Amino acid sequence: MARIGFIGLGNMGGGMAANLAKAGHQVRAFDLAEPALARAEEAGCTRAATAAAAATDAEFVVTMLPAGRHVLSVYQDQVFGAVPADALLLDCSTIDVASAKAVGAAATAKGLAMVDAPVSGGIAAANGGTLTFMVGGEDENFARAEPILNAMGKAVIHAGKLGSGQAAKICNNMILGATMVATCEAFALAEKLGVDAQTFFDISSKASGQSWSMTSYCPVPGVGPKTPADNGYQGGFAAALMLKDLKLAVEAANVAGASVPMGAAAGALYQAFVNGDDRNLDFSAIIKMLDGTLHRG
Ligand code: NAD
Repeated sequence: MARIGFIGLGNMGGGMAANLAKAGHQVRAFDLAEPALARAEEAGCTRAATAAAAATDAEFVVTMLPAGRHVLSVYQDQVFGAVPADALLLDCSTIDVASAKAVGAAATAKGLAMVDAPVSGGIAAANGGTLTFMVGGEDENFARAEPILNAMGKAVIHAGKLGSGQAAKICNNMILGATMVATCEAFALAEKLGVDAQTFFDISSKASGQSWSMTSYCPVPGVGPKTPADNGYQGGFAAALMLKDLKLAVEAANVAGASVPMGAAAGALYQAFVNGDDRNLDFSAIIKMLDGTLHRG
């Protein structure tokens, strides 16, 4: 069993660290927030006083932090100076491709091995150990990362070289954001044209308009499988996080010289939605803005 330093014990990291401890690993955990540390301790992790202390003596360091700037500062100011030379660094946060490549290059320059390993799946998947990991890095580093990630997920896929995990993640979520908006618009239009939502679902879920947003995550309450729509759009994947991922996709497209008009349009719609009072609702709640039923406080 491995010695693992885990930094960032929030909504996602808390459950992930707990699953590593449950699998028998020695997890030394750090977060800036006291309640997150207490929860990790209850789940079988050992508390570290700083991020550097979590990395000291570690065979693996896992980070699950909000954004690129947190990842850069935690690695540069804390982890790089403390971690043993043969440790493997795994950043599971969703961050911009440029920061992922920059932190990976800084690690390589110091002779340290690193992979980017962002996840698909929300808080329930983090708690349940059923995340999907998309991993960017050298073959040998992927092979070392795999058993550690398997303790937190149901699928671990090698996306390519360093930064490719983040690239695959934002491309996937750009499809998700755009298809959710398209699905919501179609339900709103169908209703205005006199087609009942259940009937439209029965047709479109078996026709060419079918997508994950329609059949697995239907934005209309009472239609299709149970989704956040059936729970007042609480829980699930917050609209503010979808906006973050769409912004990352557009940013990466600008740098790479790719054209993403649909992703950009979805991003503008999520920006308008998040500017209101409902930023923490599930991202499928954007149907309330598109069908005109959104009521501002
Ligand atoms: P969160 O805000 O709940 O957790 C982040 C944690 O990092 C917090 O507990 C915070 O205190 C800690 N932190 C911040 N700066 C720190 C530092 N310098 N040192 C130590 N700890 C620090 O966020 P989350 O929902 O757990 O998301 C984490 C990452 O996972 C994000 O990049 C997010 O985009 C991604 N993600 C989230 C979801 C989701 O459904 N929540 C799904 C997939 C991916």
